[in-house]
Amino acid sequence: MNRSTEATFEALRSRRPTFWANPEEDQAWARIPSLDVAALASSNRLDRAATLLRALFPLPGGEPMSIHSPLLDGAGLAKALSADPTTGGAWLIKADHQLPVAGSIKARGGFHEVIALAERLALAAGLVGPKDDLAPLASPDARALFSRHIVSVGSTGNLGLSIGLMASALGFRAVVHMSHDAKTWKKERLRANGVEVVEHAGDYASAVRNGRELAARDPATHFVDDEQSVDLFTGYASAAEELARQLAERRVPVDADHPLFVYLPCGVGGAPGGIAYGLKHLFGSAVHCVFAEPVESPCMLIQMMAGFDHPMSVYDLGLSNRTEADGLAVGQASMLVAPLMRSRLAGIYTVSDNHLLHLVCIAFNALGVQVEPSAAAGIVGPLVVTQSRSGRRYLASRGLESNLARSTHVIWTTGGSLVPQPEFAAILQRAKGVAAPCEIED
Ligand SMILES: *Cc1c(COP(=O)(O)O)cnc(C)c1O
Repeated sequence: MNRSTEATFEALRSRRPTFWANPEEDQAWARIPSLDVAALASSNRLDRAATLLRALFPLPGGEPMSIHSPLLDGAGLAKALSADPTTGGAWLIKADHQLPVAGSIKARGGFHEVIALAERLALAAGLVGPKDDLAPLASPDARALFSRHIVSVGSTGNLGLSIGLMASALGFRAVVHMSHDAKTWKKERLRANGVEVVEHAGDYASAVRNGRELAARDPATHFVDDEQSVDLFTGYASAAEELARQLAERRVPVDADHPLFVYLPCGVGGAPGGIAYGLKHLFGSAVHCVFAEPVESPCMLIQMMAGFDHPMSVYDLGLSNRTEADGLAVGQASMLVAPLMRSRLAGIYTVSDNHLLHLVCIAFNALGVQVEPSAAAGIVGPLVVTQSRSGRRYLASRGLESNLARSTHVIWTTGGSLVPQPEFAAILQRAKGVAAPCEIED
C-alpha cells in the first residue's frame, strides 16, 4: 500500500473528512456512442411513458407529471459559502429534490425499473407492441395482469418510496422491506398508498438480503436489487442527457477549455454511478464526476481503493454506517457499479454529519430550497475541489487549474422536497445545536 493510500485509509478510520483523487481516472476518456445503448433505451422508455405518467399521477394545479428536474442558479449558494470568486466558475444546482411524486433522485432509477418490468409483462401478454407508447399500461387489462405480480424492494427509504409508489400506482402488489430505523413518515406514506411495509432489525444490507431471499422463493415476485440492477442504473444514466440539454439551453460550454464538475451524493452507487456513466459518455474527458459520502459510510471510496476483486465494507474499517444522511447509509458499494467507475470517476470526498446539517441550513437560507441531509452532501463539492489542499493537488495534476475560472460546477441535490414540515424543522433545529464545521482543509 503506498503512502497516500495509507493516509486516506487513516483519514477514513478516524472519520476525518477527506478528498481522494482517483489515480485510475482515464484523463483521455473519449466519447464512444455505441457504448450508450442502454442509457438511450431507458431514455426512450421514459419518453414513451410520458402519457402513462400523466394518467397515473395527476399533479396539483394540472401540471403535467414528468421525471425531469430544473437546473437552478447556484450563485446564492456560492456566496453564502464564501466561495473564492477567483478560483470559481459558475455554480448550478440540479434540483432532483424537486422530482415529483418520489421527491428524490430515486424517481429516475426506480420509476424506470418498474415501468420496464410492466412493459415486459404487457409485451408478453400482447397488451403493447415493441417500442409502443406505454399509455396502455394504465388500462384495466394491464392492471388486472399486474395485480397478479408482486414488486418487492429493500430500502433505507427513498428507493422504497419510488418503487412502492410507482408499483402500486400501476396495480402491482408492492412490498417494501425497510431497516427498522427507516424514517417513520416514509413508512406511513407508503402504507397510505397501499404499499406493504416490512420492517427488519439490522441495517440496509440485511433488509435487502431478507427481501431478496423472500422474493427468490416466489416466481411472481420481482425483486428490485439496488446492488445489482441494470434497469435502475440505466434509468439514472438517462439524467445525463437531460443535464446536457439544460446546459446547452443556458449556453454553458463544456469542453477541454470549459471543464464541467459534477458533485453527486453516493450511497450504494447506482444513482451517482449511472449519471457519471452517462455524463462521461456525453462529455468525455471534459466532465469530472466527484462523489460525496458521509464519514461513517464511505462505501464507494473504500471499494475503489480496495480494488474490485472482493467486496469491502465500511464495517471492515471499523466505521458505524450510522449517519443523518439516511439515503447514503450504505455499508457496501454496488459491485456492479464500482468497477464501472474505475476509469470514469474523478474522486470522492467525505462529509461529517454536522457539516451536512449546516449545508441543509445554508441551502434553505440561501436558496429557499428544502433538501435532506443526504442531498446536501454535494453542496460543498466545489469548495473541496477548488479550495482544499488535496483538491488543488488534484486540479494541478490534471492540468485543470488554468481553466477554473471558465469551469461550471453542478451540485446535484438528490432529495428532500417531500420531507414533512415538522421533520424538516427538526433538522434545522439540530443544525443550530452543532458546532459550525470548518472541514475542507485536508
Ligand atoms: C439513494 C440516494 C442517493 C444515492 O443513490 P445511490 O444509488 O444509493 O448511490 C443520494 N441521495 C439521496 C437523497 C438518495 O435517496
